[in-house]
Amino acid sequence: MNFSLSDDQRSIQDTFKNFCKKELAPRATMLDQASEDEVKVLIKENIKKLASIGYLGMGHEERYGGTSVDLIAQMVAGEEVAKACASTFLSAGASSGLFGVPLKLFGSEEQKEKFLPGIISGDLIGSFGLTEPEAGSDAAAIKTTAVKNGGTWVINGSKTFITNATIADVCLIMAYNDKEAGPGSGVTAFLVEKDAPGFIVGKSFDKLGFRGSPTAEIFLEDCTVPESAVLGEVGRGFIQAMQTLEYGRIGMATVSLGIAVACMEQANAYSKERKTFGKPINRYQEISFQLADMMIMTDISRMLILKAAWAKQIQDPESAVLASCAKLFASEAATKIASMALQVHGGYGYIKEFPVERLYRDAKLGEIGEGTSEIQRVLIAKSILSRFK
Ligand SMILES: Cc1cc2nc3c(=O)[nH]c(=O)nc-3n(C[C@H](O)[C@H](O)[C@H](O)COP(=O)(O)OP(=O)(O)OC[C@H]3O[C@@H](n4cnc5c(N)ncnc54)[C@H](O)[C@@H]3O)c2cc1C
Repeated sequence: MNFSLSDDQRSIQDTFKNFCKKELAPRATMLDQASEDEVKVLIKENIKKLASIGYLGMGHEERYGGTSVDLIAQMVAGEEVAKACASTFLSAGASSGLFGVPLKLFGSEEQKEKFLPGIISGDLIGSFGLTEPEAGSDAAAIKTTAVKNGGTWVINGSKTFITNATIADVCLIMAYNDKEAGPGSGVTAFLVEKDAPGFIVGKSFDKLGFRGSPTAEIFLEDCTVPESAVLGEVGRGFIQAMQTLEYGRIGMATVSLGIAVACMEQANAYSKERKTFGKPINRYQEISFQLADMMIMTDISRMLILKAAWAKQIQDPESAVLASCAKLFASEAATKIASMALQVHGGYGYIKEFPVERLYRDAKLGEIGEGTSEIQRVLIAKSILSRFK
């Protein structure tokens, strides 16, 4: 067993650490506090910045502009992106990951040629439309339908909480083409472009955190797309979405880790500067033990993430449950660490001038997005129970 990163992985880590510190971190507060219209501009700029150092092409095929780096290197780079600006991680990940990964895995040559070069260069932005107003955790309960009409499909329904909806050029929409096929079967994924007739994007939600990553509803009103918009096979959309979410969960764990590490660094620095009763607060055991707990939790999170990434990379049968474990632990650790980091800052942690205020708001999403903590526990419990039949 070897816990060291390879030379390539280490070099990717160094490159991203330097780049994100210089290019993303100084803009994170501005992005968080920007108006809805400003966010649309700023986040696209950040996505382009990430494209310029090859982040959006990691793991994608070279002929579309990608680079063949393993999933571990992608998570190592992702931690640096998330640490600098969690909103940028989320929007970039929704485009090159939640949209780009199923396209890579299930798309036709023609579809990949049409969208992947743009997604990788940051000229196109993608989004992933599974969740609906009455179907989040219970994704098979989606109500959106797709009906074949000659050479086209007509989609009706709505999607909610869609990351990038207001800036995306194309959205992967999951819809039932056969309601009778049983839960989860009979769903098809469609590549729906923003100018498709009947494709309507709502206003951005006013959110607690991740305010620099736009989230909105999508309405499909007799939305008409050509047959060539079907991703892979008709009826395979639910399975495609679940496979995509396995990657997404490792990604969500990574954004939580980035937030947690940023909190730990902020708390550590502040505790050295702030003096009470004549000495720096880090001399008090109450403070230094909190820093110790932060270190343990971030380290465990990172190990779980890298193990899940490695398992996915080698197609280990345990990879899905390991992704759930990493996502569950890292997200809950991040909310605890953010709370501790804010506490270390005292009253100053409660005001917007200090990044820990934003990090505290951002941290909570990790326990909700890409399957809530409760759903991860359900999945992990199912896996462990199946071993003792
Ligand atoms: C900022 C943001 C960005 C998002 N981006 C996207 C995106 O790009 N694309 C997309 O498709 N979706 C996206 N989502 C949606 C997200 O995946 C869902 O919000 C999430 O899966 C939870 O679904 P829900 O909100 O409907 O909650 P519900 O499913 O209604 O759950 C409510 C509560 O009940 C609990 N619960 C539900 N079922 C069970 C059960 N069986 N056992 C125990 N507890 C249960 C949940 O854990 C939760 O605590 C995003 C959400 C947010 C907030």
